[in-house]
Amino acid sequence: MDILLPIFIFLFGTAIGSFSNVCIYRLPRKVSIVTPSSRCPACGKSISPLDNIPIISFIMLRGKCRFCRSPISWQYPIVEIITGLTYLLLYLKFHISFPVLIHNGTSLFPVYAILCTSLIIIAFIDLEHKIIPDVITIPGILIGLTVSFTMPHITALNSIKGLLIGGGLFYVAAVLSRGGMGGGDIKLIAMIGSFLGWKTTLLTIFLGSFIGSIVGITLMVLKKKGRKDMIPFGPFLSLGAIISIFFGRDLIYLWLTLTFG
Ligand SMILES: [Zn+2]
Repeated sequence: MDILLPIFIFLFGTAIGSFSNVCIYRLPRKVSIVTPSSRCPACGKSISPLDNIPIISFIMLRGKCRFCRSPISWQYPIVEIITGLTYLLLYLKFHISFPVLIHNGTSLFPVYAILCTSLIIIAFIDLEHKIIPDVITIPGILIGLTVSFTMPHITALNSIKGLLIGGGLFYVAAVLSRGGMGGGDIKLIAMIGSFLGWKTTLLTIFLGSFIGSIVGITLMVLKKKGRKDMIPFGPFLSLGAIISIFFGRDLIYLWLTLTFG
């Protein structure tokens, strides 16, 4: 197998991850993601392109600002590595041929790359700020719907069903739990539904709840969180959706086999 293309895809993913870091920092603070250029949050000095290379700059600077020596969050290289690896795995599973949009008619790589990038940004914003920005989920729902008309991964009907069933279930849960589930979660699962269809959305909800419960119980046992502390659902839903993209068919098949023999 040609090794250059996978390496390029990984590096491209880390560059997108670098931009995702800008979104994660700026969107909850309502700052433009275009201007000004990247700055150190501590001293405000602008960061030169050489100090802005994904992963490498963090290592070269030993995790500190060149000017004021304030520590740079580990989140920066982590998001870059996660995005790079996700892009590499998407490439290995769905392949790319050139031109990018044509692979037996289409390539699913850009569709899932857009979804995964949005999910990674949402997960980190929700972890820190306990919000899921509409500026990602609402355009996301529209993109998911639109690509379902042009791409063969799911039918448009399935996209609409995913949007309505996912969003509807969470809406009911929000009403029943009286605020235990937020509007951001409803729009997030509607976005996932519009990209992945209704079956994979149900699997995402199952996986997200399952992983979230394990993490929640673990934190309570370790006394890091009390029973009443709020643990954001967005990161677990995002993780559930990404797992579903890679293993959804296998997991649904396994589930049906175990249930119905
Ligand atoms: Zn600084």
